[in-house]
Amino acid sequence: MRINCPLCGERDLAEFHYEGSSKLMARPKDENDTDAFHDYLHIRSNPAGLNNELWSHEYGCRAWLLICRDTNTHEILSIDLARDKKTKGSLD
Ligand SMILES: [Zn+2]
Repeated sequence: MRINCPLCGERDLAEFHYEGSSKLMARPKDENDTDAFHDYLHIRSNPAGLNNELWSHEYGCRAWLLICRDTNTHEILSIDLARDKKTKGSLD
């Protein structure tokens, strides 16, 4: 798999690190609710199909990228710099 970094151009997947879904989860309000904190820290969705993801170009320019990828085919539909897309509460 190759990823076309907006700053560096097309690079091998090995230069990138998957950081998870770009959809931000709300931090539990009750800090003593261990079940809610467990889910907040460890439970992630694993959708089949289109997924908005956060990646970093860890061994390149170190930019954070928003990638829309089909998890069935690994086809990348869009790549944007996270700094250009960030909105309050969500990076989608
Ligand atoms: Zn880059």
